[in-house]
Amino acid sequence: MKPWLGDEEARAAAEAVASGWVAQGPRVAEFESAFAAYVGAPHGVAVSSCTTALHLALHLLGIGLGDEVVVPSFSFIATANSAVYVGATPVFADVEVADGNVSARTVEPVLTDHTRAVVVVDQGGMPADVQPLRELCERRGIALVEDAACAAGSRYRGAPAGGQAALAAWSFHPRKLLTTGEGGMLTTSDAELAVRARRLREHGMNLSAADRHQSRQPVIESYLEVGFNYRMTDIQAAVGLVQLGKLDAMVVRRRELASNYQEALAEVPGLRTVQDPPWGESNFQSFWVELRDDYPLRRNELLTALADEGVSARAGIMATHRQPAYAGHAHGDLTTTERLTDNTLILPLFHTMTEREQQRVVTLIRRAAGLRAA
Ligand SMILES: *Cc1c(COP(=O)(O)O)cnc(C)c1O
Repeated sequence: MKPWLGDEEARAAAEAVASGWVAQGPRVAEFESAFAAYVGAPHGVAVSSCTTALHLALHLLGIGLGDEVVVPSFSFIATANSAVYVGATPVFADVEVADGNVSARTVEPVLTDHTRAVVVVDQGGMPADVQPLRELCERRGIALVEDAACAAGSRYRGAPAGGQAALAAWSFHPRKLLTTGEGGMLTTSDAELAVRARRLREHGMNLSAADRHQSRQPVIESYLEVGFNYRMTDIQAAVGLVQLGKLDAMVVRRRELASNYQEALAEVPGLRTVQDPPWGESNFQSFWVELRDDYPLRRNELLTALADEGVSARAGIMATHRQPAYAGHAHGDLTTTERLTDNTLILPLFHTMTEREQQRVVTLIRRAAGLRAA
């Protein structure tokens, strides 16, 4: 991944600096409402990262000690960590082989009387099938949180992915399409949760810094509960506003490049490329391929073969349950998680990638499979 940043972002950041208002202020307010409108969510609360958005989401739900939160192991580690932050126990659910996401089928067997929430991830931008999960959770009185870190610009059942969620967490890290350097957002359909999230990101204060600044009278704030400093800066939001205007173009280009890969790699034996699911469209934040037994090289061998030619690919999505941080953590069957994490790799894909660059990647993968260049 390479972020698609240019002079416009640099100018927007410089204007924020020149304005003298660099912490959370008017640009953050503008960015959060523009982003929420883009994904079709009623409320957006900008925060410092997706990790802090996930923490806030579980905190807002009152989840804590003794509670279980179902998460995919097949995700960036922050998904599971958010449960640990509130004192709860993450319970790993396996994923579907086709899309790499948890589903009602994989979540139901791990639900217990202690389950208070399920975190569904749109992994690599691939929209998860959230509707059956939402129905399952509603029947059992369990909250559903969407980790939409990678999913800005993806679509689910004809609408922007993540926009319908009661609580969704987004990331603006440079590995994602839209970047603010670091940054995140919590979107919600619940006005009261939005009010409380705004307060919690700012130390639990009843007034924002902007409120105080705008008041003609001296105002004394009070701290209604123990909160956090999870604010985004106006410099970041200024960049985010420019990036948001480019998001549609980024999605179009990524889908074009993804479709080139799908076509060019279709006849390579033993190789499967990630595909849109029947219920939506991915922004292809991560374009992964799975190597099966009939591909002549193992995953790490292909990564090395690519690296030898100066092509930087990456191992597939991690399996959190295998990390030292979760050593000894009990879990059930994670067969598909282990299969995908061991046998997938993420190919280079970025907005400014040229046809020649992409052709080179394809040729190397074909050559490693014993095929001639296409
Ligand atoms: C990137 C990512 C995160 C963390 O996002 P940050 O903004 O870096 O905190 C969380 N979950 C998933 C699925 C991610 O891909």
